[in-house]
Amino acid sequence: MIRRIVCKECQTPLHREDAANGFEQRTVEIVTKKPDVHTITTLVDGKVQNVEHLKTLICDGCGKQLADGATAFAVTLWRPSREKAPDNWEQEYSQ
Ligand SMILES: [Zn+2]
Repeated sequence: MIRRIVCKECQTPLHREDAANGFEQRTVEIVTKKPDVHTITTLVDGKVQNVEHLKTLICDGCGKQLADGATAFAVTLWRPSREKAPDNWEQEYSQ
């Protein structure tokens, strides 16, 4: 399962190749809200090297900051042949 939050510019329909590989895509429009704790954890050889607390959500496509209240898209990809439809996680990042 792949979860991404992307800005309007980076939101795209399911890629042909992913569809051919059996992926399904769920796209939910959200009004962004950063969770109370939002971090990027860097692992090196399985050890935590760096935990960065982010001030805003970041677009997983272009890396731009998504201030609270921005319109964005929560995109989920999964393969129904291998996993059940992922639980809803979008509301965690939406107002
Ligand atoms: Zn973007």
